Amino acid sequence: MNSLKGLYGMFDAALNAAAARVIRSGWTILGPEVEAFEVAWAEHVGVGHCVGVASGSDALQLALRALDVGPGDEVLTVANAGGYSTQAILALGAQPIFLDVEPDSLLLDGGAIFAAVTPRTRALIVTHLYGQMAPMPAVLAACRAAGISVVEDAAQAHGANWAGRQAGAWGDVACFSFYPTKNLGALGDGGAVCCSDAGLAAKLRQLRQYGWQPKYQVRMAGGMNSRLDEMQAAFLRVLLPALPESNAARRRVAASYLKGLEGVPGFVAISRPEDAEDVAHLFVLRHPERDRVRAALLAQGIQTDIHYPVPDHLQSGFIERVSQLGLLAMPAAGALPVTEAACAEVFSLPCHPFLDVTELSRVSSVLREVW
Ligand SMILES: *Cc1c(COP(=O)(O)O)cnc(C)c1O
Repeated sequence: MNSLKGLYGMFDAALNAAAARVIRSGWTILGPEVEAFEVAWAEHVGVGHCVGVASGSDALQLALRALDVGPGDEVLTVANAGGYSTQAILALGAQPIFLDVEPDSLLLDGGAIFAAVTPRTRALIVTHLYGQMAPMPAVLAACRAAGISVVEDAAQAHGANWAGRQAGAWGDVACFSFYPTKNLGALGDGGAVCCSDAGLAAKLRQLRQYGWQPKYQVRMAGGMNSRLDEMQAAFLRVLLPALPESNAARRRVAASYLKGLEGVPGFVAISRPEDAEDVAHLFVLRHPERDRVRAALLAQGIQTDIHYPVPDHLQSGFIERVSQLGLLAMPAAGALPVTEAACAEVFSLPCHPFLDVTELSRVSSVLREVW
């Protein structure tokens, strides 16, 4: 499913030089490498500020903290995006409210937002799933009209854009993960929160380090320890310039699969919004007999995965957590029909920049055989 060795091999000398530079500097956490990466990433996304943090999950939590989300608040999100948004909402003791997704794109349905808003709704977390941007013009318009904040989860969409404006440059605040398999990944955990409001950025910087201002004086509630380290920032500075080319390589992989599967009866590609340029983080298909197809592919040496098998509202850990917190129960099975149908049918083919033409045509031809 991935080829991290391929990636690291390509940048071997530069990664080693970056590691040596950090070791020689004797500076390990929140130093010049982090600052330089924050500037570079803010510029790449097209926002005023980037705050490096420890992971994408922490980025989501810190974004909600910076927006003062807490117990008694409702946050809208989807239930088919891996559970990261729900985890962050529950970590703050807030109530997740799930919107169903749009059947062709599996992305949040901008038209469903307004009806879900109540006086307690504070924010929406919108995930750019599989490398595809959610319909941000519609999402922003609905959220502005409803008076709620917008948090983008762009952990699968580094470099994606809608009409030229990057994922991460639309919401009040945007979250990125640099987990190694993301389109831009470190060699360990890392994340970032981006925004264009200087006050919000200052708050995020304070929250990521215990709420300190200055050191050892906790002046802000809700602080935590979530820092990006120098080593990861130095690696990210090596890999960032290659992001456009590696996204282009991923898009070529997706295009090759789409061409290879053309005309297969019953094959329907997940639709891509017209004005958006996606970054093919994952190549996801649907099949009513997913398990049979996956087993047949594996028998021929082709690995697949499922993103994601269980929708958030049916995860037993989340169900238990809302009950512990005294929140509204999670919706019952059947409440989010499009989401639930998708979770039962989706599966992902290998999709990364190091697949060659022979591998791609083999995957397509085996898939046609077993479909
Ligand atoms: C990977 C991912 C996250 C979490 O990032 P971590 O760095 O692993 O905590 C959040 N949201 C989405 C959509 C992701 O794909």
